[in-house]
Amino acid sequence: MTERLYYTDSHIKSFTARVLSCEQTEKGFAVTLDRTAFFPEGGGQLGDSGYIAQVRVFDTHEKNGEVLHYVNQALTVGEQYDCKIDWEQRYRRMQNHSGEHIVSGLVNKRYGYSNVGFHMGSDAVTIDFDGFISPEQLAELENEANRRVFADLKITTSFPSSEELNKLDYRSKLELTENVRIVEIEDTDVCACCAPHVYSTAEVGIIKFLSCERRRRGGDGVRISMLCGLDAYEHLAQIYENNAAVSVMLSAKRDNTAAAVERLLSEQEKQKGRIAELSREIARQRAETIEQTEGNICIFDSVLDEPSLREIVNSAVEKCTGIAAVFSGDDQLGYKYIIGSKHVDLKKAAKSLNEGINGRGGGKSEMIQGSCAETAENITKFLINWTV
Ligand SMILES: [Zn+2]
Repeated sequence: MTERLYYTDSHIKSFTARVLSCEQTEKGFAVTLDRTAFFPEGGGQLGDSGYIAQVRVFDTHEKNGEVLHYVNQALTVGEQYDCKIDWEQRYRRMQNHSGEHIVSGLVNKRYGYSNVGFHMGSDAVTIDFDGFISPEQLAELENEANRRVFADLKITTSFPSSEELNKLDYRSKLELTENVRIVEIEDTDVCACCAPHVYSTAEVGIIKFLSCERRRRGGDGVRISMLCGLDAYEHLAQIYENNAAVSVMLSAKRDNTAAAVERLLSEQEKQKGRIAELSREIARQRAETIEQTEGNICIFDSVLDEPSLREIVNSAVEKCTGIAAVFSGDDQLGYKYIIGSKHVDLKKAAKSLNEGINGRGGGKSEMIQGSCAETAENITKFLINWTV
């Protein structure tokens, strides 16, 4: 039987242990040790990785009550080795996991909701609750959770007797009455959990909620995404840097960038309206210069918007006996076209026209629209003499 060092001290980073067994499996060699600080996956926390001597432990799992360390290379049974876990990774997980206890404990105390799903992903920790939490409640909850962090509350563990357990009110109540490990955070949470946690809430550092969304399944519940400790710090630092860059670009104070962006967007809306107006005005002027033509009209443009181009086409169809085509774009990126006619059924002619200008598109008998990948020179050559 393996002595589980992480039960007595969650902060053991290295230790020596003797190999009890080493068996080849589909996943590599599964090694058991006489003592271990490697935590096998459980309680929502992933299994540890690290080293046994120079041999990489890429995962740790529990199977039939045994802690299995997965390695790529066989180790000698009976031999004693220096072992080391990937501490940085483990510590971040413990910070996130312990933060989850604080939040779940508070939600349970305040609203009576249960944590019905917990996942530690690479971008965020998510907790599913079986009740609704409003944005106001969420803000309060985050504030209170962080106050519990700063209060430096002890996080303790115990294995109560079945009698004590029966009397105990705790989260994740199990059917089992023996070997149930209880994790307690002073005045905040009591929960059955097998994973390692930090010594005190202060080590969680910070708890930052990222989002709270209604869960799609499972009734009126929510999913809170959050980060704690170093993960939260790095995430916030990145967002701060991003905001600082926006603040420089907009010459706005760092705590006022949203208002500056709002002003920018409203200015942009105004400018869009002004551009549309100018575009329409240019179109009207251009339309006036179109001369009465026998045959087809072919016009190129690179600045006007679509409604303006349509206006030109509408004027041009009145002044020709064939088709009136307007192209916007350039030879490199290709052109968008609008073609109109009062004399040709364009719905029928679309195929022939598209073939001639290497284009695609269609529409009604009076007007078709599309795009083409042909040079202005070739388009003009083809269209000027085109007839049904
Ligand atoms: Zn836990």
